[in-house]
Amino acid sequence: MSNKTLKDLLIHALRDIYFAESAIYKALPKIIDASKRPGLKDALTKHRHETEDHISRLEQAFGAVGMKPQSTPCEAIKGILKEGDEIIEAFGESEIGDAAIVFACQAVEHYEINRYGTMHAWAAQLGMDDVASLLADTLQQEHAANDALTSLAEEGINEAGGSHEADADAKNEGARGSDASAPS
Ligand code: FE
Ligand code: ZN
Ligand code: FE
Repeated sequence: MSNKTLKDLLIHALRDIYFAESAIYKALPKIIDASKRPGLKDALTKHRHETEDHISRLEQAFGAVGMKPQSTPCEAIKGILKEGDEIIEAFGESEIGDAAIVFACQAVEHYEINRYGTMHAWAAQLGMDDVASLLADTLQQEHAANDALTSLAEEGINEAGGSHEADADAKNEGARGSDASAPS
């Protein structure tokens, strides 16, 4: 048995998510570019700005445990982003391109919610209140980003390319809100 502690595991997780956040930050411009609906573009652009805060909160968390920020490659996010890239490559140009983008982005948000949720619980358990509070702030924004994507999907992205009838419905909804219109 080695003498690794929960704190060691938390530090590993911080390095892992630090890598992941910077990979997400780098991947987002291409995804924003591929988005058609202004509402989707805006939500992703807003979340990219929030991602800058996620990175700086992690740097503060490293400081709180007396360490320099350091990243360790996260194979999980590499895979999620690579798959997202493939999905957008295959479906991005089509009528259901925005649905494909939401599909890919929600995988990222769920991953982050999972990691921040666990890490927050560990920090709280270890009595590292400052770290726990930084992680909680980011966790809340990941939840909000995921919920915003769900709302956009429910407002019509998913229906937009479904059928001609659904197309008409999405256009009718467009009369109520500018970002609920079907892609042209
Ligand atoms: Fe994040
Ligand atoms: Zn990872
Ligand atoms: Fe996120």
